[in-house]
Amino acid sequence: MDLDHLPSDDGDSAAAAASPGRSICHTGCGRPSRVCLCPYLPRSPLPTSTTVVILHHPHTLRRNPLSTLPLLARSLSNLHLLPGRRLVSSSTPLLPPPSPNPVLLLYPSPGAADLATWCRSTPPSARASPTLLLLDGTWRQAKEMHAASLPFLSSLVVIPVALPVDSGVDGDSMFESELVVRKEPHKGCMSTMEAVARSLRLLEPEGKGEEIEEAMLRVLRAMVAFQTEHLQNRTVKPRVKMRKKKELKREEQC
Ligand SMILES: [Zn+2]
Repeated sequence: MDLDHLPSDDGDSAAAAASPGRSICHTGCGRPSRVCLCPYLPRSPLPTSTTVVILHHPHTLRRNPLSTLPLLARSLSNLHLLPGRRLVSSSTPLLPPPSPNPVLLLYPSPGAADLATWCRSTPPSARASPTLLLLDGTWRQAKEMHAASLPFLSSLVVIPVALPVDSGVDGDSMFESELVVRKEPHKGCMSTMEAVARSLRLLEPEGKGEEIEEAMLRVLRAMVAFQTEHLQNRTVKPRVKMRKKKELKREEQC
């Protein structure tokens, strides 16, 4: 799920505005140099006791400069990105076999437990070194990925969890956040990176979680600042499809 996401979306952005000829930060964040986020990234990926596994829709990284997955990969060392539309048994090597370590699925299903409440009510020994599993795609893709993964997930002991600020399936947004990096399909979607940051704050051992969260949010704040600046400066042009339709209409009228 911006489940970058947590459901994500293609869209205009500061990164998308760069033409292929403009310089790209090839050795770092991979973004256009003028919106390079390298100064904000951790010097080296941060180690965590939580294993983060993200099943992302194959389209997530294609034409989606707002995806935070590349930034996540540069921020966390214990992170695994799995391209695919569903979790299957071949995903198993990245998920622990039956063990005391919990596997948490961060997805707002009706039965999902509030992650903060779960952490408070679970003894530290029972929540040590968890695996945090996320689905990344548009809302619709994430829903399909969740449904398609259920047969596999039911073979594991998976605890469905959601963040405290989840507004529910029918709300305007999955999360309320000041760090909004996209407008569609639901206003106010939290990026996957922010969802991971908020989760690690709760899951990592005392004190460490806040440091990791802050390091990740620093990157997102810089990304949002670039995006905001871009949206303020851009001139609105009709989309290609619209222009074509208008041209066709004009031709018909001639
Ligand atoms: Zn860079």
